Amino acid sequence: MRPARALIDLDALRHNYLLARSRHGGRALAVVKANAYGHGAIPCARALAPEADGFAVAFLEEALELRAAGIDQPILLLEGVFSGEELDEVVRHDLWIVVHHAEQIRMIDHAHPALPIEVWLKMNSGMNRAGFLPHEMLPAWQRLKDCGKVGNITLMTHFARADEPDVISTTEQIVAFDAATREIPGPRSLANSGAILGWPAAHRDWARPGILLYGADPMPGAPNPLRPVMTLESSIIAVREIPQGAPLGYGARFSADRPTRVGLVAMGYADGYPRTVPNGTPVAVDGIRTRLIGRVSMDMLTVDLTDLPQAGIGSRVELWGNNIPVNRIAEAAGTISYELLCNVKRVRFEYPG
Ligand SMILES: *Cc1c(COP(=O)(O)O)cnc(C)c1O
Repeated sequence: MRPARALIDLDALRHNYLLARSRHGGRALAVVKANAYGHGAIPCARALAPEADGFAVAFLEEALELRAAGIDQPILLLEGVFSGEELDEVVRHDLWIVVHHAEQIRMIDHAHPALPIEVWLKMNSGMNRAGFLPHEMLPAWQRLKDCGKVGNITLMTHFARADEPDVISTTEQIVAFDAATREIPGPRSLANSGAILGWPAAHRDWARPGILLYGADPMPGAPNPLRPVMTLESSIIAVREIPQGAPLGYGARFSADRPTRVGLVAMGYADGYPRTVPNGTPVAVDGIRTRLIGRVSMDMLTVDLTDLPQAGIGSRVELWGNNIPVNRIAEAAGTISYELLCNVKRVRFEYPG
């Protein structure tokens, strides 16, 4: 069997959830959208279910998968519904919805739900992507209250730059949210991962931790005791020596700067390892750091074993995990950990323990 696999540490996931909730206080919705950031929504939700106050996903189908798997905690749809018909399913499966646009209020107005709908009313406090403007919040809340189809209303907003501790915009968003919602009763939810760790002023009734559950620190400047959840690994499947000056791989992007012992690894961009990383990107072979050399190809990549004479066919290669932070690879690839984690595919997923 091909040795490429993603090992998912569900104990680490639970640890990170409990850390998020205790840092924030109150309750926490574990964000498991996008297949739990690529980790497997069902196993992750099942592992968190005994502790979690609830879950958040992007849209209805993601929630229905969790319900079908027996998850019976609250589940919030972060994008809300896309049509009035979806509201029937929302009620039937006891889901909570974000309302971020007037069109969604109209859908609720025209619906005939069998039970009151739980709503999280979203304000645009400065990100300018989704949500009601400050002066629209009270009228929107009033309309939802008056339509007779809505149960509890939680007030929420989302930050554009919570992972940047030295930037004023998160404080400005908090101030704007508080000013616009002063007259409106009900629980509040402001904090994503960055704000849970870095912005105590954003801590309210509910936290919405996503990336930190998976152990990728959104605030790498201030070390936080998060545990990586995914280890992406494979093995050396062939070894060859190339002389100084010899080219390696597609485009001859690497040319041996010394006589080089090259390890071939069964992992490529079709598995979700980014093609864009440069020569020198760290990998760990049997727990020891070395460098990626040559271009990442679809099914394989190559690493430098010159200084690791004991390594050979069958040696374990960690692409990211406990030895190599996924943030380090994201930086090398010019992206963020979120995108790398979401993109892992084709490899076997294993959930030890
Ligand atoms: C995805 C998402 C989160 C989680 O964000 P992280 O940065 O991963 O913690 C929280 N709130 C909303 C509205 C989201 O869409």
